[in-house]
Amino acid sequence: MKKKKTIIIKDPHLRKIRDNLRVVIDRAVNNEVSRFWNLMMQIDRSTDEGRDQYFALMHQRDALEMMESSSTIQCAACNFGIDRDVRFNPFDKAWYCIECYDLIRDQYYKTMAKKKKGEFIGTDYNEEYARSFTD
Ligand SMILES: [Zn+2]
Repeated sequence: MKKKKTIIIKDPHLRKIRDNLRVVIDRAVNNEVSRFWNLMMQIDRSTDEGRDQYFALMHQRDALEMMESSSTIQCAACNFGIDRDVRFNPFDKAWYCIECYDLIRDQYYKTMAKKKKGEFIGTDYNEEYARSFTD
């Protein structure tokens, strides 16, 4: 997806269905991550074959977690938002709850105002990232 997109569900019944589906998916992902973890702990990593199996499972586990964190299930900023409407930011290809999205945008404007006045804004402030939250 290359464009910003906002998903807002106003109907309370549909919101409840969405929220419940997110909970079910989140629990399924967590169960699967635990299953991978348990399998990984049973592997003898003292052999090349064991290490290969371990890293293959770790890769699958990480891929699953990455899929969830880049989906509409979780907000990329607060990791909550299971009951919140979401907005996609194509800059980092992630979904954010509207609250976080607006907060990052507002913070960008405040930070740029400080910068314009010559105030120090920090060395690790990612201006390009934050600017991507402006519409
Ligand atoms: Zn959030």
